[in-house]
Amino acid sequence: MHRALYPGTFDPITLGHLDILNKAAHMFDEVILAVADYTGKDSNFNLEERLNLCNEATNGMPNVKVMSFSGLVVDFAQKMECNTMIRGLRAVSDFEYELSLALTNKKLKPQIETIFLVPSLKYMYLSSSMVRQLADLKAPLTDFVPPPVIRFYEQKIYPKA
Ligand code: ADP
Repeated sequence: MHRALYPGTFDPITLGHLDILNKAAHMFDEVILAVADYTGKDSNFNLEERLNLCNEATNGMPNVKVMSFSGLVVDFAQKMECNTMIRGLRAVSDFEYELSLALTNKKLKPQIETIFLVPSLKYMYLSSSMVRQLADLKAPLTDFVPPPVIRFYEQKIYPKA
């Protein structure tokens, strides 16, 4: 069984994340979407909310499992018996950071390989932070996030504003 880990903060999950996940789900028997408990960012979502949204958004993907983790991602990958980690590469701006992360993780656990997948062109400049900014300004989000995230903003965030 070839199982891969797709780690991130998913703060919130976007159509770009789902594009990468969908590609990975076709390449591996099972993909674990690993949601980091700590975001280190000014977030609209706590861990439970991020997990619920990831679960709802991946409902129709039978070989995708959503789990949370804390601590080193390579330790979690090893615990879940994943020798492959997936990361998404967007524009050049991702490259330095993703490369240093991959090389650091390789140093920590040489048996775990990081592979990069490139999203469809329309998601190349989509990020969770962009979504959070758009949501603050109440912009339409249909082209950027899956329906559960839109419902969450409409029901939990916008009414308070
Ligand atoms: P992190 O906070 O660890 O960077 P994210 O949840 O922001 O986690 O992203 C997880 C992974 O998905 C990262 O490799 C990131 O580059 C990638 N990613 C995020 N948005 C997109 C997108 N629109 N297209 C492709 N990959 C993406």
